[in-house]
Amino acid sequence: MASRADLHTHSSFSDGLLSPTELIDLAYRHGVRVMALTDHDTIEGLPDAFAAAARYPDLTFIPGVEISTDVPGNEVHVLGHFIDWQDRKFQRRLLQMRQSRQRRARKMVDKLAALGKPVSWKHVQSLASDAAIGRPHIARALMEAGHIATFDEAFDLYIGRKGPAYVERERLAPAEVVEMIAAVNGLPTLAHPRELDGLEGLLSQLKAAGLVGMEVYYQDYSQEEVERLRAVADRFALIPLGGSDYHGLGGPREREPGDIPLPDEPVERLLALARERGSPQAV
Ligand code: AMP
Ligand code: ZN
Ligand code: FE
Ligand code: FE
Repeated sequence: MASRADLHTHSSFSDGLLSPTELIDLAYRHGVRVMALTDHDTIEGLPDAFAAAARYPDLTFIPGVEISTDVPGNEVHVLGHFIDWQDRKFQRRLLQMRQSRQRRARKMVDKLAALGKPVSWKHVQSLASDAAIGRPHIARALMEAGHIATFDEAFDLYIGRKGPAYVERERLAPAEVVEMIAAVNGLPTLAHPRELDGLEGLLSQLKAAGLVGMEVYYQDYSQEEVERLRAVADRFALIPLGGSDYHGLGGPREREPGDIPLPDEPVERLLALARERGSPQAV
């Protein structure tokens, strides 16, 4: 069942396969009429996305971003919708984060070579193109080099958090990123919270920092999981949002854009909040 909205998608400007234009065309064909591009740690895809979205008068396009943060033993991703993406200081901070990702990816490639699983650094870079370079690019290079048979094996054997070639990212606290998004008039949402330990503690902390939403309708979340998360969101007065997290890379968890049971009501709440804050895209 397709939803009218998809608030979480990736393009080739991070680790997605499709260009922003291809992504928006695909989402529109699936019936999506409210959509956000939320590339990892970059807003570089937004100008193309705005241009593509302008061809569809009945499409509301939301400028977004997904920023990775760390808590002990886990990763926490924070989405920002309706960010003032042209803010210089914000752009500079994202650039620093991408540069730190470059250094870290290089270290993982070096570790793989030491493990007898060499991949070409040039090739990993070309897979990432201008994007925020990450483990999915290394996973693809490992597959193409014939070291593994499936994408997931890369994580299971080498670059998962406990893998021998894993290198930690620059550490950013989730609350810091919630504040960074709020500082550019964005609406921060906690992404894919199902696997997070100590969710309620994290939420009270992030709520105080300015969190407005939490993903509840996401990829392969079952109806039971959706109901549990929906109750948690309600308890913390967070808008229950969601998205496909579409990357275009296939795999068992992948959903097509809009292929999530996200109801209209929470989307309307997000749009109303953005209008209240005077976001230019919130019409
Ligand atoms: P990075 O930001 O470079 O650490 O890469 C994180 C991304 O790698 C996530 O957003 C996922 O797309 C992907 N990823 C992380 N863990 C796994 C896994 N176990 N299996 C498949 N993909 C994963
Ligand atoms: Zn991704
Ligand atoms: Fe994520
Ligand atoms: Fe994502």
